[in-house]
Amino acid sequence: MVIKVAIAGPRGRMGKQAVATLIKNNEFLLVSVLDHKNEERFLEHDIPVFTSLEELIYHTKPDVLVDLTVPSCVFEHTITALENGVRPVIGTTGFTDLQLEEVRKKVEEKEIGCIIAPNFSIGAVLMMKFSQMAAKYLTDIEIIEMHHDQKVDAPSGTALKTAQMINDVRESFEQGHTDEKELIEGARGANISGMHIHSVRLPGLVAHQQVLLGGEGQLLTLRHDSFDRTSFMSGIVLSINEIMKHNTLIYGLEKLIL
Ligand code: NAP
Repeated sequence: MVIKVAIAGPRGRMGKQAVATLIKNNEFLLVSVLDHKNEERFLEHDIPVFTSLEELIYHTKPDVLVDLTVPSCVFEHTITALENGVRPVIGTTGFTDLQLEEVRKKVEEKEIGCIIAPNFSIGAVLMMKFSQMAAKYLTDIEIIEMHHDQKVDAPSGTALKTAQMINDVRESFEQGHTDEKELIEGARGANISGMHIHSVRLPGLVAHQQVLLGGEGQLLTLRHDSFDRTSFMSGIVLSINEIMKHNTLIYGLEKLIL
């Protein structure tokens, strides 16, 4: 069966790559794109462009919506897709815990699958999993995530997800000196359950993360680099195929591959 797919955010850096990937894959039919600029037809591909998700769904009936937009609209897109029986595959980061809970409730109500994957790169998912394994033994941890300077949310969805996975195996405690003081606000980064996350934003970067796990006389560094956005495409293809077989909320690609 050919899976009918719509993409939200097709002019973006991730969206462009996803369009190119889906167009050359015979398992999928790219039926439409959602943009907030209406160009009627999308680039050279002759694909209809919609500015309203309801209209896109009504006219082109996709099975799956791939969202690669911005944090401010992704929650609304996800709920609208679920309301209308379309399975969301969400790459856009920046969901709050409350929003994730709302999505979970909607998925249960509608009984159709939804994947929210803060990172579609298989290597990054392995880095997260290895960090979780190591955190059982080396519990003092700092995460340094580095992204291009056009990224709007910080810390990254990948860093947050890594911290959540580590939290599942690590007792919460404040790291460092008990009398530690920041001389400049933010010097120690964000604090999640006593772990620290530092966000670097620079032109030239794509998506990179190091997890540093310190112990007596030793340091374990786990590092992953996405050098270009093709690194995310196999995860998107896998998610579109898999979501057709599920009717729950799957948060994180690791739920599919590990
Ligand atoms: P980007 O280049 O800024 O692309 C975002 C696109 O969304 C832009 O073309 C933007 O259009 C469009 N957009 C904004 N509001 C919209 C709306 N209401 N409807 C439709 N389109 C809308 O960003 P990117 O680097 O491609 O990243 C996109 C998202 O994916 C970000 O949240 C990023 O963190 C995330 N990401 C996820 C992964 C993963 O593996 N899960 C990997 C990389 C990035 P305008 O520019 O005209 O506003």
